[in-house]
Amino acid sequence: MKSFKEIYKSSENKIAGIAAAPGIVIGKAYLFSKEKLEINKAPITNADEAINNFQEALKQSKKELNKIFGFAREKMDEVRAAIFEAQLMILDDPILLEHIKQRIRNEMVQPEFIVSDEISKYQELMIISHESYMKERAHDIEDIKQRIIRNLQKKRWQSKIEKNLIVVSEALTPADTLLFSRREALAFVTDHGGLTSHAAIISRSLNLPAVVGTQKATQMIKDGEQIIVDGFHGYVIINPTEVQLEFFRAKQDKLIKLQKGLEELKDLPAKTLDGKIINIEANVDVSGEIDLVLTTGANGIGLYRTEQILNELGTFPDENEQTEIYSNLASRMYPKFLTIRAYDIGGDKFRINEYKEPNPFLGLRGIRFLLENENLFKAQIRAVLRASENKNLKFMIPMITTLEEIWRSIKLIQECKSELRKEKVKFDNQMKIGIMVEVPSAAVMAKEFSDEIDFVSIGTNDLIQYLMAVDRGNDLVSNLYQEFSPVVIRTIAHIVREAKKGKVPVSICGEMAADTLAIPLLVGLGLDSLSMSPATILNAKRIIRNFEFKKAKILANECLQCKTEIDIQKKVQKFFEDNNISRTRNII
Ligand code: PEP
Ligand code: MG
Repeated sequence: MKSFKEIYKSSENKIAGIAAAPGIVIGKAYLFSKEKLEINKAPITNADEAINNFQEALKQSKKELNKIFGFAREKMDEVRAAIFEAQLMILDDPILLEHIKQRIRNEMVQPEFIVSDEISKYQELMIISHESYMKERAHDIEDIKQRIIRNLQKKRWQSKIEKNLIVVSEALTPADTLLFSRREALAFVTDHGGLTSHAAIISRSLNLPAVVGTQKATQMIKDGEQIIVDGFHGYVIINPTEVQLEFFRAKQDKLIKLQKGLEELKDLPAKTLDGKIINIEANVDVSGEIDLVLTTGANGIGLYRTEQILNELGTFPDENEQTEIYSNLASRMYPKFLTIRAYDIGGDKFRINEYKEPNPFLGLRGIRFLLENENLFKAQIRAVLRASENKNLKFMIPMITTLEEIWRSIKLIQECKSELRKEKVKFDNQMKIGIMVEVPSAAVMAKEFSDEIDFVSIGTNDLIQYLMAVDRGNDLVSNLYQEFSPVVIRTIAHIVREAKKGKVPVSICGEMAADTLAIPLLVGLGLDSLSMSPATILNAKRIIRNFEFKKAKILANECLQCKTEIDIQKKVQKFFEDNNISRTRNII
């Protein structure tokens, strides 16, 4: 069997894009393009009649969108379905609607021209924004504009397709994506759009593979051609050769088999052969992943990245909106625990334009930003407390660097608690407060910091970046980003030892926990809990159930003596061989 690299290296029939939703699909392409609507600017004689037509078109558009919104709520969680609610709100915006009517009366031209002109102004403002999120939302507004104009022209769109096709399009609106999924579309490929495009978000939510932002898919792919969509790596293969077909069919079979073999582990504990139980939790970026968490048998959620909500909504939800989101998640997880991490804003994450920083990774990030913006932090704390009534929430603070930051955070939490008490709002007074240890200063001071809080979670993604002085997203220096570096292993060992002196549980929620190769070493280093992406959980359980804790401790002690990354890697690999554990690092 050829390797993945060979298959892709030599193939001229591939196009590359962004891997927006995982999975492999082989099928027939359906080239979807919307009819471009001509806008009529002709003069009118009767303003009342034109306004009437406009109102009718609005009514029809609302009816269509309500239907889509209803379907979205059935298929997706509330946060995502809210995309359509936001579109409906535009149709009810009194200022915009009044303005359009005024212009129809003043200018006496076809309403479709005024609608197009007015909504385009909104879009232009969004397109010039630096935030990719805002640019994506401009596309959503295009959908509304086209919908109203089409209804003014009393036209119908044909989005009906045969079942089981791969939709290839320049771009897809959220509504198109959803409607195609109703026709059992197999996958999506688009020319435009990024990871935050709604076609991408919705595909992930609906579990349909997608490759977006290919630039040229609609030029290269012909209607009806056979294509392969590799949503794991972001490639599309056009008219695959026999060798390619064989390769990807084998991958599909492997995926199915792996999933079947692992499913029986769902209700079994992650227990070593000599009886040590490791708590396995899930990292969750978006609420739609909760379904996956529930089906993999995770013990809870060890990291819920709330800044992801901002990426999806493009703005800060207020306290009530946040309470609703957190309460909803808490009740879906109940009685399992959900660890909500305070907004980790800054660095390469959701950025606020008003802060222009030359070195954002070393700037106002995580808790530093939150303490600069106390009201925003307090709204989040209050929302988390309000959602904690059922006592299954924990709260975690990112990027802690000093004791003062812990003290100030705890003081704000106390303040919020007394406010809520006065307001007679119920909350969990014992809610556990933890910190991420992801900055070297926090690692060094792990004992002193642990004395102030209830739990510690090691964020290796950042810890490695700050320990090795290597930007976690920079390819040029990726050889220095070494999770098996002795520096990293010794630092983790130090944190575990010190936090245990402070009598708090230690977990790890960086990507290292999801690297199945690292698992025996992490367990041997004394971590009680591992939090990882839901897709890795069953595999992690399989590995833990195949070695002895006492052997893992010996492995850890040996690795702590090593001086290079290679030496540690060799020892870890040998551990897998000696214990006969197969090492499927990734499914494909
Ligand atoms: C980490 O730094 O390891 C972590 C889990 O946080 P994030 O990846 O969100 O920065
Ligand atoms: Mg981090």
